Amino acid sequence: GDAVARIGGDEFVMMSGGAIDQEGAGRLAQRLVDAASQPMQIGTHEIQVSASVGVALFPDDGDENRVLVCADTAMYAAKHAGRNTWRVYATEMDGGGPDILGMQRAIRRALDNDEFVLHYQPKVAALDGSLRGVEALIRWQDPERGVVSPGEFIPVAERFGLINAIGFWTLREACGQIRSWQHAGWRIPVAVNLSPQQFRQPDLVERVRACIDEFDIDPGLLALEITESVVMESSSSVRRVLEELKAMGVTLSIDDFGTGYSCLAYLCRLPARQLKIDRTFVIDMDHVAEARHVVEAVIRLAHSLRMEVVAEGVERPEQVVTLRSLGCDLIQGYYFSRPVPAAGIEALMQGDQLTEQSARVHALAERLRADSGYGCPPALELAAG
Ligand code: C2E
Ligand code: MG
Ligand code: MG
Repeated sequence: GDAVARIGGDEFVMMSGGAIDQEGAGRLAQRLVDAASQPMQIGTHEIQVSASVGVALFPDDGDENRVLVCADTAMYAAKHAGRNTWRVYATEMDGGGPDILGMQRAIRRALDNDEFVLHYQPKVAALDGSLRGVEALIRWQDPERGVVSPGEFIPVAERFGLINAIGFWTLREACGQIRSWQHAGWRIPVAVNLSPQQFRQPDLVERVRACIDEFDIDPGLLALEITESVVMESSSSVRRVLEELKAMGVTLSIDDFGTGYSCLAYLCRLPARQLKIDRTFVIDMDHVAEARHVVEAVIRLAHSLRMEVVAEGVERPEQVVTLRSLGCDLIQGYYFSRPVPAAGIEALMQGDQLTEQSARVHALAERLRADSGYGCPPALELAAG
């Protein structure tokens, strides 16, 4: 008579009815942990998983609105205790984490009420600061919480199976933006982030195609950013999806490169056109020689595979100068612009703000060269004119 449900990725809820007390619930939890940790034979592999269980009692710990939050809190306590174990909810456990179930409900409402917006961050040419594209970054204007950053709500959306709805909203919105810019006479490539779960949806390719058709846009203006860990799954289905997207004319970009594990043999065969070096390497580049060497090596590697390189999280002019000297193609970061509403990009296109910034970069490069004798290699100076 117990009910079991899967509520997200790797999370399950079990409701056990009847007069079960704390001790009985604990025994049940231990049986679940033991059962989950039994090794399984799958083909030639022996596989073992662990489970962390949180227990809450209804109605003692909370009413129907709260009891799941309590179980979730207890589950996190079990994880903190080293996993593969269980914990019973206690009020002292509260306050440790955000109210994720409340947030989950709010995300569902946000989708219905159109509370999401896209902001756009320029990707500019390292050499002259000209706009080469933008990355669409989602923002949530929650009436109660204010602006919530994607770093906070995307993981919750992923846990509760809401990321597809959000991801496809983003894709349509971005395609609509490409179209209105195209109508205004601007061909601005827009990159959309795809979550790993979205990438594994069997209808991803059809959905992308449907968006391109609906808005009648040039597929070459749509880029999809996929994290390194996903593209590196060398399964045949991942490879097929990447090939189909490429055949459609969509640009593929590997996001946050350097934070996961890359198989170099596989990287060679990947139909991606752009590689984005993660911000963590860019941050340290000026004062940690090793970080600079990594950036340099990644740029060389990408170029030898005929991929374009974007440096993420560029905040200071010194970083721009170093990246230019290393031959990095594109730069994205607060130094040029924070993510801004679409109108901000239009203002950039109309005005000459980027030109001013690139003039600043040129001036700085000159000064650094004069001060330290350090500057661009000759080939780049020629290219920079
Ligand atoms: P990401 O794709 O790597 O995006 C870059 C993040 O770095 C953005 O954070 C951007 O605002 C931030 N950033 C850019 N330049 C700088 C800089 O100079 N300094 C610093 N400190 N940060 C910089 P944001 O917008 O908070 O997004 C965080 C992550 O959330 C994104 O990382 C992306 O993985 C995810 N995300 C954002 N929008 C979407 C979306 O529509 N769908 C999906 N699935 N994920 C999204
Ligand atoms: Mg991205
Ligand atoms: Mg990134």
